[in-house]
Amino acid sequence: MLEIRIDRKRYPDRGGRPHLALSGLRLDVARGEFVCVVGPSGCGKSTLLNIVGGLDRDMDGRVTMNGAFPEDVGFMFQEPRLMPWMSVLDNVLLVARAGDAARQRERAIALLRAMELGDVLDAYPTRLSGGMMRRVALARAFINEPALLLMDEPFVSLDSPTANRLREMLVEQWQRCGASVLFVTHDLREALALGDRVCFLSAAPGRVVLDLPVELARPRDAAAPAVDGLYQALLARHPELLGGLASAESGCDRKAAVASGAQAAGSGASGSDAGGQAQGRAAQ
Ligand code: ADP
Repeated sequence: MLEIRIDRKRYPDRGGRPHLALSGLRLDVARGEFVCVVGPSGCGKSTLLNIVGGLDRDMDGRVTMNGAFPEDVGFMFQEPRLMPWMSVLDNVLLVARAGDAARQRERAIALLRAMELGDVLDAYPTRLSGGMMRRVALARAFINEPALLLMDEPFVSLDSPTANRLREMLVEQWQRCGASVLFVTHDLREALALGDRVCFLSAAPGRVVLDLPVELARPRDAAAPAVDGLYQALLARHPELLGGLASAESGCDRKAAVASGAQAAGSGASGSDAGGQAQGRAAQ
């Protein structure tokens, strides 16, 4: 179990006054659980991941996984962060744990084949499309089969078929390796398509204000009617909380979403029990 207790995280402000980025944030992730964290821009999502990943230890609070600070961690960031002078295969092997080199190579090749990159193992990243680079980064995130995977908007700014395919690949690998996942996004549909739970952060200073179990069957698609029904019902039930998120999503007219969400929640027409599921648990 991953336990996150962040009493306060401050940044020094340029004007001399400290900026309180996170305050009273409590979040638990069970072993093998996929938890998405959503919230408006600037609410502290990346700050949270940096703290959990040990990249930033300057805070009041504690982060433990089975009693100790999490060490067995994989990362995937918004940018694929590939080394341009290394082949696709070497980029994945770059972070592989020391040990049986032949076995690691076999595992990297298997992962890259699962990502449909078997034909470009020796290619350099500059030859790859944006979607292919993200698939290399995804393979790299799983090379050590981490106990905890931290993902910071890894599929942002991809077209939706490419992002959907990457989400499918992520879920396949997650189900195979059984990692706990903390996945940050500002895209609520993506969170509903991926998460066992979705935790909503408040505006800064960020804390969890709603913890929502997502009981939709897998596999899910961000554009599927069941996901859309839950999305609309959530907006109807928590318009103030989620307004910032809906307006942040491209092409989403918040007023229309709220109006049709009220209908969906009332009639139950979009997805099974979407209105009931949208209730969630308000965090203290
Ligand atoms: P999010 O990922 O939700 O968009 P961030 O975690 O990146 O939010 O940032 C939260 C707040 O902390 C923002 O107001 C941001 O400007 C501020 N912040 C983030 N990193 C730093 C830093 N290194 N120094 C000062 N302020 C920072």
